Amino acid sequence: MRKLAEVLRDWEAIIGLEVHTELTTLETKMFCGCRLSHDDEPNANVCPVCLGLPGALPVPNEKAIESIVMAGLATNCEVMRRSMFYRKHYFYPDMAKNFQTTQGPVAFVMHGHLDLEVSGEGAAERPDGTIDKRQDGSYVAPIRILRIHMEEDAAKMNHLGGAEGRIGGASESLIDYNRCGTPLIELVTEPDLRTPEEARLFMEKLRQTFITLGISDCSMEKGSMRCDGNVSLRRRGETTFGTKTEMKNLNSFKSLHDALAYEICRQAEVLEAGGAVRQETRHWEPSRRRTVVMRVKETADDYRMYPDPDLAPFDLSDEFIERCRARVPELPDAKRDRYVATWGMRRADATKLAGDPATASFFEVAVVLVEPKIIPTLVNVMINLTPSFRGLSEAQVASIARLLAADALTFAQAREVLEVVDGTGADPERVVDERGLRQSTDADALGAIVDEVLDRCQSQVRQYHEGNRKVVGFLVGQCMKASKGSGNPKMFNQLLTQKLEA
Ligand SMILES: [Zn+2]
Repeated sequence: MRKLAEVLRDWEAIIGLEVHTELTTLETKMFCGCRLSHDDEPNANVCPVCLGLPGALPVPNEKAIESIVMAGLATNCEVMRRSMFYRKHYFYPDMAKNFQTTQGPVAFVMHGHLDLEVSGEGAAERPDGTIDKRQDGSYVAPIRILRIHMEEDAAKMNHLGGAEGRIGGASESLIDYNRCGTPLIELVTEPDLRTPEEARLFMEKLRQTFITLGISDCSMEKGSMRCDGNVSLRRRGETTFGTKTEMKNLNSFKSLHDALAYEICRQAEVLEAGGAVRQETRHWEPSRRRTVVMRVKETADDYRMYPDPDLAPFDLSDEFIERCRARVPELPDAKRDRYVATWGMRRADATKLAGDPATASFFEVAVVLVEPKIIPTLVNVMINLTPSFRGLSEAQVASIARLLAADALTFAQAREVLEVVDGTGADPERVVDERGLRQSTDADALGAIVDEVLDRCQSQVRQYHEGNRKVVGFLVGQCMKASKGSGNPKMFNQLLTQKLEA
């Protein structure tokens, strides 16, 4: 198969995503009062409603509706005042009532968009024909959201001895209804994504947004956030869509990217050989790095959708919507803009810090602990040093930034110190003193070492005067060695240059 970049020169990829997110932060299920916890004993959290017993009546969870309205407001959606629940029929033991309660043509929130900042290669023409490309090669991709609707999750099935998710071949199947009835929101994008990288960025941004809202833990490993993707190709310049395939099991950012990349190349190969792409659902196999056919697509008619007679239509009041709006916290984009405006941070740095809610709140505590002139060092530390540590406090990170800004430590030494203090609460300054790591910036003491090194390295001094300025690096190394690493390399460099030029 040809490489992705090559394929994308001839073909335009049309990508859409469907993202399911469990509202894991709620206490109870969507239509009953059962505890929302998947980790309990199997079938501990069940009742007549979520087991679909005859006569049981559903009662919608108001907090879940607040969550979906907040999700809509945070993604620039319109809140649909009137919407209702439908029954989507299918027969499978993971839903004992034989239908899933979901929404029909009108969802709680619809017609939104998220703007992606894409850097580097691959600026693709947008559906409206524009390309907004900046000088640095980055561009903004506005991705429209068709809808976010509410539905309920099904039970978890464990097919012993059979293939994952299939009854065929299993000797025994176990069902855990704890998950059945978990409030789930499904977001559907318009087919506006053009590259696997854009799809990955969209998922990442959506995840950051939902975590910031506090509506889900958005764990792709645990399956509380799941993504399906569909992709079709058309020759560059064409306007009609090709036949699309849908892909399942994209349960990590990497899987999402790699599966789309594989599928784009596979479709290009089929089309270039004169074949036709079949409309089908395919399964991504990460270990074999390929997609395989799961089933040929069913149509919507097969589900016999109709309005649920047990659930009255919703009429969301202004008061309710405003209450949801008031609960939407500062979102990553607004945070990024504030960081740039307040601290003059580089946009790329601000995007990184503001994107992850935990990192952002950590930064906002640490930044008040340092003097203004140390803030750039703090930002540098938080982007390049601390992400590999788990148990650091804001005070420890502020302290490391201060030591670095004062040239008392090199970056490598700072990493060593953080390894020591990680998870202990110990003060980095004390560790530096105890271990004698503090770099000397005492000009007299360092000057004496420089004199001794220059005395010893006459041939390098000669080379310097003959125009070979690179020997300074060697001389700094000699000084560092002579000071047993306690000298500050930047100061050695300055002193050496001064003395050599004198
Ligand atoms: Zn229940």
